[in-house]
Amino acid sequence: MPFTANRQFKGQPRLLTQAKGMYYTSHDGRRILDGTSGLWCVNAGHGREEIVQAIARQAAELDYAPSFQIGHPDSFRAASAVAEIMPAGLDRIFFTNSGSESVDTALKIALAYHRARGEGQRTRLIGRERGYHGVGFGGISVGGISPNRKAFSGALLPSVDHLPHTHDLAHNANSRGQPEWGAHLADELERLVALHDASTIAAVIVEPMAGSTGVLIPPKGYLERLRAITEKYGILLIFDEVICAYGRLGAPTAAARLSVTPDIITMAKGISNAAVPAGAVAVKRAIHDTIVDATASGIEFFHGYTYSGHPLATAAILATLDIYKREQLFKRAADLSAAFEQAAHQLEDAPHVVDVRNLGLVAGIELQPREGAPGARASEAFRHCFDKGVMVRYTGDTLAISPPLIIEEGQIAEIFDTIRQALLAIQ
Ligand code: PMP
Repeated sequence: MPFTANRQFKGQPRLLTQAKGMYYTSHDGRRILDGTSGLWCVNAGHGREEIVQAIARQAAELDYAPSFQIGHPDSFRAASAVAEIMPAGLDRIFFTNSGSESVDTALKIALAYHRARGEGQRTRLIGRERGYHGVGFGGISVGGISPNRKAFSGALLPSVDHLPHTHDLAHNANSRGQPEWGAHLADELERLVALHDASTIAAVIVEPMAGSTGVLIPPKGYLERLRAITEKYGILLIFDEVICAYGRLGAPTAAARLSVTPDIITMAKGISNAAVPAGAVAVKRAIHDTIVDATASGIEFFHGYTYSGHPLATAAILATLDIYKREQLFKRAADLSAAFEQAAHQLEDAPHVVDVRNLGLVAGIELQPREGAPGARASEAFRHCFDKGVMVRYTGDTLAISPPLIIEEGQIAEIFDTIRQALLAIQ
């Protein structure tokens, strides 16, 4: 199983058999409140009838159309609907099936763009420590989660550097929203530019809010500085918004929420409410045009997937984006975020807690690691909550909460109350 201690799982399997709205049902018939939107992806809540119907209709009408040299109208409609949600100017869309594919696609677009401009020597990529960009070789190379890299370290992409991460408990513990301290860490990019020369650097990729590594909220001014430095040197800035896009931070994208516009945005998860695997990359029109204009005839970009813009995925995307719009779920997330922040920070005085951090409808509760057993406390808290009927996530010693945007205030309280009970119960 993916990212699972298989041997341990066999002894204690946790299986889900149904889902509706805010709740899962487990194989032993228990109702479990979804505090994590599955894996940060079911933003509109589970089992949405409009999406179910759209997928069923599409499967009956056109199950599949080749994505190379042929197409189908809904993939263009879905691309337009995605472009409408992206920041102005990022209106050229390439479909993928996952976040990992979106990341590798974005990195390739960055290289293709520089090559098309006659700067093919710009091949160096810059990621960030503790960054998570999926599991492709591109993604783990620019990613900064060491266990994901170590086992494959001989085969990672060459010419990759990492900026420092921005997590610092000494300065920023228990920040509400964006922390005050840490904008200067973006200046490390200047050091890398001085070291390698800007003419060798293709792109910088960061998660604006880093999710899988433990909910790291960008310090005030940090992304603005990254933007200014990348712009100064003609380096593309990629925001990996696989978690952030589609309302997680109380806005269509992190770019919109934090008022910093990158050149490329990767997305997946919430794009289809996870009902069908789907992802996409949005790029500025100038990047698209540069790549296309560089080739007089024939294929301009040698990249694509059998299932790029799969009809079931585009049906799910169109139905999902329609729900977000009709129910104004991004605004709902923004409106709920103050109550969510309040509930999360009540855990500051709970046992083992060393930090609570939050933005929009995402929160991280960091625990003091147990001596000699890093991650054990958080995994015990996760199991305790699951047994009590609330699904949270853990990564390292941080619990991550990211509920569907349809959550009610009473359910927010239930999630954080259950976590408190778990923290009181564990050693
Ligand atoms: N990028 C980010 C920021 C992610 O959070 C994830 C998944 N958690 C990915 C990429 C990879 O997505 P997938 O698992 O769909 O390949």
